Amino acid sequence: MPRPKRQANPLVSKYLNAIRPTQTEANNLGELKPVEPAARRGDGAPLLGNEQVYVMKYGTKYHTVWCKVVAEKWEHSPRGLLVTWLSDVGGRARCKECDRPPVPAKPPLSATGRPGAGTNQVIETQEPTPPDEDLIPLKVVGLSHGILFLAAGPEHRERLKETAIEPSTPLSVDGRRDGMVVRLDATKAEPLLVVQMDPRATFMDVPYQMRLRPPLRRSATKPYAVASVEPVSPK
Ligand SMILES: [Zn+2]
Repeated sequence: MPRPKRQANPLVSKYLNAIRPTQTEANNLGELKPVEPAARRGDGAPLLGNEQVYVMKYGTKYHTVWCKVVAEKWEHSPRGLLVTWLSDVGGRARCKECDRPPVPAKPPLSATGRPGAGTNQVIETQEPTPPDEDLIPLKVVGLSHGILFLAAGPEHRERLKETAIEPSTPLSVDGRRDGMVVRLDATKAEPLLVVQMDPRATFMDVPYQMRLRPPLRRSATKPYAVASVEPVSPK
């Protein structure tokens, strides 16, 4: 299914909210502020990044994992399943189902028959989506002459030493290519990722993250490659 479009004009949303009485309760819990999820599964299902939670359009709860409630929402009304920052849940309460998720957190990956997980096992997809651990947070450390420097935490250094940059690795902003990753230097305590920005791209001083994947090249000597780099929370 196609990626859900970003939220409509806030005025339109407000208007729609006003004419939907069922939403009143959720509105009292604070305005819903959907953000782009950290990643998406192959089928488009949103995956949470750090500090992100699932919320539902008319819901009164928030969810920290892919629990039964979230899974059912995705199945029956995927457009109503949204992601927001934990700090933006307002008066929504933490979902109790999240404490004992009966479905694997990342169905396509870990659906390898966990005992007692029920009979409705999710069918494994052929190409597993990278798990959340494959998202590495980055912070901006500099921008100079169209070159963006992003640093990862020292705790990711060992992993990044095992990570290659393959040709055409994009900096993606809302699905648009805003630049190309040119170099990864993991010899530093804080590994440095060097990105060549496209001349027409607008620089955003926000947290970024890089996504890892297995290398595409058969000749690859490292077990990981950078799939893409993106802002964690594009405006
Ligand atoms: Zn839940």
